[in-house]
Amino acid sequence: MQDYDIDTLAVRAGTARSQFNEHSEALYLTSSFVFENAARAAACFKGDEPGNIYSRFTNPTVTAFGERLAALEGAEACVATASGMSAILACCMGLMKAGEHIVSSSSIFGATVNLFGILAKFGLETTYVDATDPAAWRAAVRPGATRLLFVETPSNPLTEVFDIAALSEVAHGAGALLVVDNCFCSPALQRPLDLGADLIVHSATKYLDGQGRVLGGAVLGKKEIVMEGIFPFLRTAGPTLSAFNAWVLLKGMETLGIRMQAQSGSALELARWLERQPAVERVYYPGLPSHPQHALAMRQQRLGGAIVSFEVKGGREPAWRVVDATRMISITANLGDTKSTITHPATTTHGRISAEARARAGITEGLLRVAVGLESLADIQADLARGLNG
Ligand SMILES: *Cc1c(COP(=O)(O)O)cnc(C)c1O
Repeated sequence: MQDYDIDTLAVRAGTARSQFNEHSEALYLTSSFVFENAARAAACFKGDEPGNIYSRFTNPTVTAFGERLAALEGAEACVATASGMSAILACCMGLMKAGEHIVSSSSIFGATVNLFGILAKFGLETTYVDATDPAAWRAAVRPGATRLLFVETPSNPLTEVFDIAALSEVAHGAGALLVVDNCFCSPALQRPLDLGADLIVHSATKYLDGQGRVLGGAVLGKKEIVMEGIFPFLRTAGPTLSAFNAWVLLKGMETLGIRMQAQSGSALELARWLERQPAVERVYYPGLPSHPQHALAMRQQRLGGAIVSFEVKGGREPAWRVVDATRMISITANLGDTKSTITHPATTTHGRISAEARARAGITEGLLRVAVGLESLADIQADLARGLNG
């Protein structure tokens, strides 16, 4: 289906009808699969013949999810995982060995920092880079040891934008792979593989579902890296996506394009409005001309995305007042939902990392992150205005 537009692929790619000719994607809730005879079972187990064996390895609904997401990202291969975190874990476990090294931006999801900390126990070391400047990344690379460069762009929660093409050159110059966490943009707004990235990780929990229902994740890239490097870890260790969640995600992806467009449109308007509020010190949104990497963002992404972060003047107390004055926006750490959410990163998503790591990531006590949903923009603004003006 390569010739189709991304909006068509989101609805149609990965559809494989059963003998019943169902129109909507079938949900295969089964842990294992049966064989016609012993010889066929032996051939499937040996890998000589294709076929589903056990849902820890493959499942038709999960395969459909992977094929659809691969079509959207322009990837040769996709493996689905139980969550975004297990997608990141699978990259590290599948592709690295003790003594090897990761270079990561410091501006990443809090749990990713914690995961890299756990992996240090097994001899995988991580160096954090504060800057978006590729030269700073090059300086952090250890020739012969660095295996992965890991970046989130735009980053969570400060929406820093990293130059995927430039970082892929740094990675390839060092014999390493560039991994992009494409959670914030989704393939509707950004396709990292087209820009030179080697691997994409997703938290499908966010925009791919889009309605805050299930956890899921994925790793995408070249067939050789994904199927030979990462899949063996997943099928053995088992952080695979459930068929039910894959089915929910398939339905979620059908509306990905229109949701990203509508939510990004509202986010841009909200960011402009926040910039005019006297109680707001600073707004972080890639679609604003005031964003330090605005030009790069507009080159690399189709729109600014649906996450707006802003710093309230005066620190934690006035920031919490804005959170507590909301009546409609949900106070929750999740994002990517049709329901708008508000978070105080310093005490929630980034609360478990050290104060030093938090400072390095630029997470201040006055910072708030809003993930803009599909409600009316006027209602979202009114909900925030109450605490900002109070
Ligand atoms: C949520 C998130 C993750 C982790 O995904 P889970 O599905 O919660 O495991 C990773 N990266 C980013 C940018 C996220 O927002």
